[in-house]
Amino acid sequence: MASPQPSIILSFRRTFALLIVLVVLPSAGLSGFGVVAIINERAAVEKRLEATWQGTLETLTEDLPAALRSARFVLVDGQPRLVTSDGRLLSTPASFRVEGKQVSSPDAELAAALQAVQSSSADFPAGTSHFSLMVGGRATLLAAERQGDVVHGVRLSQDAVEALIEERAEGQVTSSEPVRFVLLARQEATGEGLMGKLALEVAQARASALGPLVLAEQVLPPPLQDFRLAVVPTGEDPIARASTRNRVVYVVLLGLFYVTLTFGVVYTGRVLYREARLSRMKTDFVSLVSHELRTPITSIRMFIETLALGRVKDPAQTQQVLQLLTQETERLGTLVDRVLDWARIESGRKVYHREFLPVPAVVDAAVTAFRAQRLEGELRLSVDLPENLPQVQVDREAIAGALLNLLQNAYKYSKEDKRISLIVRADRKWVDLTVEDHGVGISPRDRRRIFERFYRVDNLLTRKTEGSGLGLAIAKHIVEAHGGRITLKSELGKGSRFTIQLPVGKA
Ligand code: ADP
Repeated sequence: MASPQPSIILSFRRTFALLIVLVVLPSAGLSGFGVVAIINERAAVEKRLEATWQGTLETLTEDLPAALRSARFVLVDGQPRLVTSDGRLLSTPASFRVEGKQVSSPDAELAAALQAVQSSSADFPAGTSHFSLMVGGRATLLAAERQGDVVHGVRLSQDAVEALIEERAEGQVTSSEPVRFVLLARQEATGEGLMGKLALEVAQARASALGPLVLAEQVLPPPLQDFRLAVVPTGEDPIARASTRNRVVYVVLLGLFYVTLTFGVVYTGRVLYREARLSRMKTDFVSLVSHELRTPITSIRMFIETLALGRVKDPAQTQQVLQLLTQETERLGTLVDRVLDWARIESGRKVYHREFLPVPAVVDAAVTAFRAQRLEGELRLSVDLPENLPQVQVDREAIAGALLNLLQNAYKYSKEDKRISLIVRADRKWVDLTVEDHGVGISPRDRRRIFERFYRVDNLLTRKTEGSGLGLAIAKHIVEAHGGRITLKSELGKGSRFTIQLPVGKA
């Protein structure tokens, strides 16, 4: 075949480029959004976990003052201690005493801190109270009890208070995540103005980098405001786990998306290319058929003119001219029949009248028609038709036509050596009709395509030989419509062997 016309290939390329632009670019944009989503994924997971825990934290921070209020002071070895109603110790041994404006404590730092806030015993509410205070730069929880003018107080154990919170949290599990509730010192704004804010942010960043991973936190209500209650995971980092899982899901989905997209683009590209090629073949076919029609019509006109002008006087010569006329009309008829046949097959209007027939009936029909074609050159057709062949259920005309086409091709595509064998073989399931020639043969590349409609091998012999590229496509269609198949073995320059396989007819 001639190489594909540039205009068709160009228009195919343009359509394909448009397809790529319309499909691939938006999907690349979509993936970009996905990448941004992946980057933001960690922040999103953090937010979600924080929201999960916020409610619990709010309840617990409200609960804590009440829990502390229910604890009471006892004297152990003359020293005050704070114990819960079920007897658990909440305080450390560090204690203090305020009498008027006089603060005393074995812990010098504690005494200094209390003095600094200028407490006088009158500032303390009557009964038990709790508060937080910065002692030696560290936030500390304190409990005090005023009796008249004297105040006794203790420093609370952070561990014991955390255990108390833990106990209260038990009924409020909001997530299956293993977590711990801890008290962290609140980060104070250390400075005013821009520099102060900057210093605070740096301090916060360092604290979050060095300190435990905090899922959510809540500042305690006054007077415990120097502390925040925080949720800290005890198992592996749930943020990392959740975001890794989401990333894996996203990457897998993205992979699937691209595989499907690639498949879609490749498939569409192939369909487009095939359509472009077919449309070129159809154009070729129209010009081919017009050319094929013109040749016999010109000859016919020439012969008729010869006869009309009375140029041929000799009856023998007249007979010869008439014979040539018949031959040309037959050629014309065959071509028109083939085109009509194909049109009928394409539109699905082809009907087969199948009947039970002996194999020789079909073979003889094809061989007789083949021999009747006054072929030039010496034809040496051998037919090997064994006895006792099973019957086949076929449309005689159609199958004989397909076989005739193989015989004609064997003749057309052979040079000097016109030996053709028609061999019939059968087993329990199949009847094989094989046509073997010693002609030009077919290359492996063309072998795959010669059954396509309008396809003709591009070689000198084919170009010199009349044909439409429809014969084998029609034959294949007919054989397959009968439940059979058509196969080919060929070697370039040595010959070809086409086999029609028909299923044995079961009466
Ligand atoms: P055509 O009308 O061109 O013969 P076909 O469909 O019958 O159309 O055949 C398609 C092409 O296959 C032919 O153009 C020819 O190049 C090739 N071909 C078919 N049969 C043979 C054969 N026996 N030997 C070599 N080439 C063949």
